[in-house]
Amino acid sequence: MRILIVEDDERVAAPLAAYLHQAGYTTVRAADGASALEALGPDTEAVLLDLGLPDMDGLDVCRRIRGLSDVPIIVATARSHVDERIRGLHAGADDFLVKPYDVRELVARIEAVTRRTRGRLDDGEALPGVTVDGVHIDVRARSVTADGAPVELTPKEFDILAVLARYPGVVVPRDRIIREVWGTDWSGFSRSLEVHVGSIRRKLDRQSLVATVRGVGYRLTGG
Ligand code: CA
Repeated sequence: MRILIVEDDERVAAPLAAYLHQAGYTTVRAADGASALEALGPDTEAVLLDLGLPDMDGLDVCRRIRGLSDVPIIVATARSHVDERIRGLHAGADDFLVKPYDVRELVARIEAVTRRTRGRLDDGEALPGVTVDGVHIDVRARSVTADGAPVELTPKEFDILAVLARYPGVVVPRDRIIREVWGTDWSGFSRSLEVHVGSIRRKLDRQSLVATVRGVGYRLTGG
């Protein structure tokens, strides 16, 4: 897999590229926004984008990459700029990491977002069923089992779980879930979403399956 690393700090970029190379990835490096846009090609399979770049606003770079390509984008932001992660997701990023992050976590996120993007490309054909932590979600049959036993979810609860199941391991912003489940951008459904998620956790008897990512949304995660 060919990964474009957009990072101006050589002390971060060099060990990162070395680690990814060892893990079997091909990497291309860009130290600013302009060279990132230049380096982006049809063979780029994922982009790791530092938001603090010397020449351009990282969020602009994110938007411009998204305007050119469906490639999965993971944004990296400093802990002091943690709100940028939300703006990053709005700018078309698929996931975010807060610096300093563990490279193993980065690899896990890359795997998750590329899986998700493949799902997005296949669309209707994608993911008839997903199993996480003993819970099987059959999207076509609209049925859920936990350790083999059927679980009765309300239609809304199922819809929420199905949205998360489409992107296992990836944070799905709250407004995206609301848009897909309720068909509106109205944030007033936020509280209702929270209540449904609480109910899903109770019925599946798994508190951590649907993890809350504070200030952003939810992530389906295996324990
Ligand atoms: Ca930087």
